Amino acid sequence: MAVISRSFYYLFIPALMTIVFIVASQYFIDIWRDWMPVVRKLPFYLLPISAILALQFNCSRLSFLATLLLVYIVYEQGLILEHLQPRDLAEPIFLSGTLLITFLAISKDRALLSVHTAKTLASIILCFIIGFTWTMLITKASLLTDNQQLASISLLTPIYVPVGIASAVTCIYAIWRASGIDSTIAVTLFIWLFNYYQPGELPLALLISMLAVTYLFAILTQSYHLAYRDDLTGLSSRRALNTMALSLNSHYSVAMVDIDHFKKFNDTYGHDVGDQVLRLVAGKLSLVKGGGKVYRYGGEEFTIVFPNKDAESILPLLENLRSEVSHYNIVLRHEQRKTSSKSNRKDSAANKSKTVNVTISIGVAEHHGESTFDQTIKLADKALYIAKKNGRNRVHA
Ligand code: GH3
Ligand code: MG
Ligand code: MG
Repeated sequence: MAVISRSFYYLFIPALMTIVFIVASQYFIDIWRDWMPVVRKLPFYLLPISAILALQFNCSRLSFLATLLLVYIVYEQGLILEHLQPRDLAEPIFLSGTLLITFLAISKDRALLSVHTAKTLASIILCFIIGFTWTMLITKASLLTDNQQLASISLLTPIYVPVGIASAVTCIYAIWRASGIDSTIAVTLFIWLFNYYQPGELPLALLISMLAVTYLFAILTQSYHLAYRDDLTGLSSRRALNTMALSLNSHYSVAMVDIDHFKKFNDTYGHDVGDQVLRLVAGKLSLVKGGGKVYRYGGEEFTIVFPNKDAESILPLLENLRSEVSHYNIVLRHEQRKTSSKSNRKDSAANKSKTVNVTISIGVAEHHGESTFDQTIKLADKALYIAKKNGRNRVHA
């Protein structure tokens, strides 16, 4: 549950930032109008910074977007191709840009120095070809149509149909992937549509500067995730545990949790099923009460820190967790059972059943006097060892 709500948190923050910004910009119109000479220059600083930082943190899609927006604003401000009337090309550029944002929304972040970069560049060119050809064909078709009503419909078609489909696809991907980066790409599309359909409502430089700030926020959030979150379970990582330990006062308890016979479980059902079980156990542990903070310590081991709690008061909570995990029936789908190696599958009775169970052992220690956090962890580890020795699937303090 905590993992799901965190996903929504990162999904909605860029969207919320954008809405707050647009409303605030319209409310404080006098303030930014005075700063227009500065605002006009902002994208030329913010976009390159975003593009470089995005590359540094493997957010290649944001890097592409920042670069393309930079080219677009240079073009819009008449710094290049001045002889071309921007309005003539507004529609094909708008459609191409919409398709391009959608393409980036459905693709994945890849290393810059890989074959994928060539494919992305080819796809970007393809988006422009489709955008320009589409608008050209529809405009021609509308000119050939005598019927006024038909002509106006066909004039609307190039924009509403592909843009509507592209927007729907981008939103679905953003919700499905539920990451800050994907949400930021959807926000880019929203700003792109806003700028086209509400021309002049807010200056392009202001909108793009705001987008660049959202990119920087998304990149920093993602880098925080990489450093402090465990990718597989979504729990906080060991690095986060060590950082948090520095801010603990002298009154706390620690529980070390370890899945029983997990090596055998992996050998029987395959590593992929093992990974799924790790996620399930992590999900159960994250429901712990009493203010416990859960971390993936490493492998199939987890740490729960209870600030301001003594060992005795948390024992019933941990006993609850142990019981919850042991009674949780893990349903194995047919394909999952197929993932285990042939030799292991041959005559394993467990593989024939549809549900399996895992158990956990827990060791508990309370912080004492002058001892360090590491020493308390070691004490909890010793208690865990005793829980294992006493038969596993138990809590030992
Ligand atoms: P015990 O009851 O004594 O804890 O036995 P155990 O088999 O759980 O302990 P052991 O330390 O021998 O094995 C831990 C296993 O956890 C080994 C490894 O295959 C598995 N494991 C560690 N990390 C992961 C992971 O990220 N994914 C999967 N699927 N398995 C993992
Ligand atoms: Mg272990
Ligand atoms: Mg184990």
